[in-house]
Amino acid sequence: HAKAHGRGRVELFGDRLAGTIAGRAQMESDLREALDQGQFALVFQPQVSARTGAVVGAEALLRWLHPDGLRMPLEFIQRAEESGLIVEIGEWVTQQVAQTIRRWHVAGMTQRLGVNISARQLDHATFFLGLRKALRDADAPAALLELELTETLAMNCSDEVLDAIAALRGDGASVAIDDFGTGYSNMARLQRLPVDRIKLDRTLIVDIAERAETRAIAQAVIALIHGIGCEAVAEAIETPDQAETLRIIGCDILQGYAIAEPMPEDHFLEWMGRSEEQVTLRRPA
Ligand code: C2E
Ligand code: MG
Ligand code: MG
Ligand code: MG
Repeated sequence: HAKAHGRGRVELFGDRLAGTIAGRAQMESDLREALDQGQFALVFQPQVSARTGAVVGAEALLRWLHPDGLRMPLEFIQRAEESGLIVEIGEWVTQQVAQTIRRWHVAGMTQRLGVNISARQLDHATFFLGLRKALRDADAPAALLELELTETLAMNCSDEVLDAIAALRGDGASVAIDDFGTGYSNMARLQRLPVDRIKLDRTLIVDIAERAETRAIAQAVIALIHGIGCEAVAEAIETPDQAETLRIIGCDILQGYAIAEPMPEDHFLEWMGRSEEQVTLRRPA
């Protein structure tokens, strides 16, 4: 029905707006085609223990292999949300994640796989029913699944959605708060949701190796995270100095280009084979 509204407005308000609406409609039909033609793919970025260097998990990140070139989530996720297509894309992601977890489990791996969930997907408690069903159908252990939700989203979801998340967690899945430090931080409300890990936003760590103040803030935030019984994860770590600083101030899990870029599954598995050596080499003993 959004489309019908859009068409009406084109006639009413003229060319300038028509451009925008046409652009949106184009993106929407491109996204639909991407779903139908199988142009989406997941890449996997490792997460390592700051203490031991062991690979403890990976984050699944969406890529659009558009015929004109690779498109990143920031270029299309928002449009997908606005058009509601994120629901179907999210279902595709869910299927892939369930099958990936199944493969990793069969291979004897114990690494968790994190999946990003956007606000629009949380409008539907059915999303979580779908996720549980996908795991069951794929015979994939929920213990290897981690849900990544932003703090704003975690604080604003309905009781129904909270129950659905709690049920998944009851199955063994874990919950991580993504981009922590960018939304309204309300620790009291955040407690509504049982959380296992908190991912510091990159803005909290970007100059951590250079600025004592940034280090002090990050250290305090990590202490707070530990205080509520969670693990602290740092993402977007780009230099060995950042990694080392984060390790010293007690961050538990590290993720970022300094460890490895997001990779297609076969590269990720290859990387896993070499990782222990690599990660140890990059860090002074
Ligand atoms: P996010 O969940 O915060 O993901 C982390 C982003 O940081 C990823 O961008 C990742 O590639 C990037 N990154 C990793 N290491 C570094 C680094 O060292 N430096 C810098 N500057 N960046 C680094 P990406 O893949 O472009 O994803 C962007 C956002 O799109 C994600 O942010 C997430 O919110 C959303 N997204 C990605 N995949 C999905 C998905 O399957 N479903 C939904 N709903 N959202 C997704
Ligand atoms: Mg994430
Ligand atoms: Mg993040
Ligand atoms: Mg982010």
